[in-house]
Amino acid sequence: MECIFCQIVAGKIPSQTLYQDEGVIAFRDINPQAPVHVLIIPKSHIPSLAQLTESTTIANMVDVANRLAKEEGILEAGYRLVINCGREGGQAVPHLHMHLLGGRRMSDTLG
Ligand code: AMP
Repeated sequence: MECIFCQIVAGKIPSQTLYQDEGVIAFRDINPQAPVHVLIIPKSHIPSLAQLTESTTIANMVDVANRLAKEEGILEAGYRLVINCGREGGQAVPHLHMHLLGGRRMSDTLG
């Protein structure tokens, strides 16, 4: 098993896990870009958004993001959800993931 996020799902690489259910796991980013930086991923290996063929997975990930935004105390102030897709989209880890970023004013540019 080479995928680093699959290894986190399998418990072979440690992570600061904040939430998990049968389909989704969320853990703190190892190199946080904001005071709150959480990654929300499907447990099954979907390489990127481009390979997604249904919308339930993303809907579940957004539900988890909103729940964690509340738990992390940033629901009211606001936050940003980001999914990088592919090389030019800036995706470094080839396992679909959503970034939950907050705890500071986000940049006005989106890249
Ligand atoms: P992306 O550039 O969208 O593919 O984001 C990948 C993210 O995964 C980066 O923000 C990394 O800091 C993060 N990351 C890589 N390895 C780990 C790890 N073992 N645990 C937590 N986050 C990780």
